Amino acid sequence: MNQQTRVLVTGAGGFIGHHLINRLIADGHWVRGVDIKEPAYEATAAAEFELLDLRKFDNCLIATRGGIDQVYNLAADMGGIGFISANHADIARNNTLINVHMLEASRLQNVKRFLFSSSACVYAQSKQMDAAVDPLREEDAYPAEPEPGYGWEKLYAEQLCLYFAQDYRLDTRLVRFHNVYGPLGTYDGGREKAPAAVCRKVALADDGGTIHIWGDGEQTRSFMYIEDCVEGLLRIMASDFDKPLNLGTDRLITINGLVDLVADIAGKKLVRQHDLSKPQGVRGRNSDNSLLRKVLGWEPSISLEQGLAVTYAWIEQELAKAGRVRQPTAHSTRRIA
Ligand code: NAD
Repeated sequence: MNQQTRVLVTGAGGFIGHHLINRLIADGHWVRGVDIKEPAYEATAAAEFELLDLRKFDNCLIATRGGIDQVYNLAADMGGIGFISANHADIARNNTLINVHMLEASRLQNVKRFLFSSSACVYAQSKQMDAAVDPLREEDAYPAEPEPGYGWEKLYAEQLCLYFAQDYRLDTRLVRFHNVYGPLGTYDGGREKAPAAVCRKVALADDGGTIHIWGDGEQTRSFMYIEDCVEGLLRIMASDFDKPLNLGTDRLITINGLVDLVADIAGKKLVRQHDLSKPQGVRGRNSDNSLLRKVLGWEPSISLEQGLAVTYAWIEQELAKAGRVRQPTAHSTRRIA
């Protein structure tokens, strides 16, 4: 990517889009951000930021106007497992509209490269029944049996990208994220993901108190820090690889293990209480990074301990600003070196 690349980031008011724009601007690119909302925690760094509902085709034409070279299509109606398992119709309809219209508008406006943000939720559920799951390879998405709602629309949109590439020669990139976390992400309100929810619960708990965990806590996942995610996005966009690619870490951990890590960071001893009535998603999910390493010669490397320390500090600080916890102590000032 040369210095004058003109980039459109959709979902620019959201977690990954906001961080991506910070990096693109720091690297010297021209960026337009589009979303239905402004970023929640700090102002955007984008040269232009427009509030547009991308479910509408005309708005996608506006978003892609003026000689855009690259589109990072991150806009989506989404959240953690509680949100996605309770809103199948809204999610499938809204995201299908966004993706179909963004692809068509990008084609008509001669966008050079279009990156679609897919998800590990596309993987066949029958391959994720065991907490000690085999890491998921890209081909494990078929035969198709994805997460209801959210996973189906992601898998369909991947196919649509491949059809646009084949029939219209729109150059597409397909990234399957595995659980991204970090500061400036939603940590409250129902759309937050497990790492942010755990950080909030630990911050709000008294030392020696109780923490409520969804499921028995033995379900497993892998987690990627936002800086690795942004680095991976830039590398995949710049690569020649046009098929679906995992972007995640391959360190499997139980949710109970995640809680213990965050409690250690906070310096608290907590009693775990499990709520088996809550949704917990598939039993186990991990990323197989063989193809990622082969294609990029790179993979995410920031440890969960490092990333969670920064994330916990930020969430604790936000809760303190809202008057929900006392002003944080020295451990909160840690940064990734
Ligand atoms: P996010 O919810 O923080 O950001 C998504 C943004 O899309 C939000 O700001 C939202 O307002 C915007 N949006 C929703 N509907 C819109 C519409 N009609 N028009 C314009 N904008 C709209 O989510 P995120 O974590 O930043 O995720 C970015 C992308 O990555 C999404 O496509 C998501 O599905 C995918 N993804 C994320 C993760 C993760 O762990 N964060 C995992 C898998 C996939």
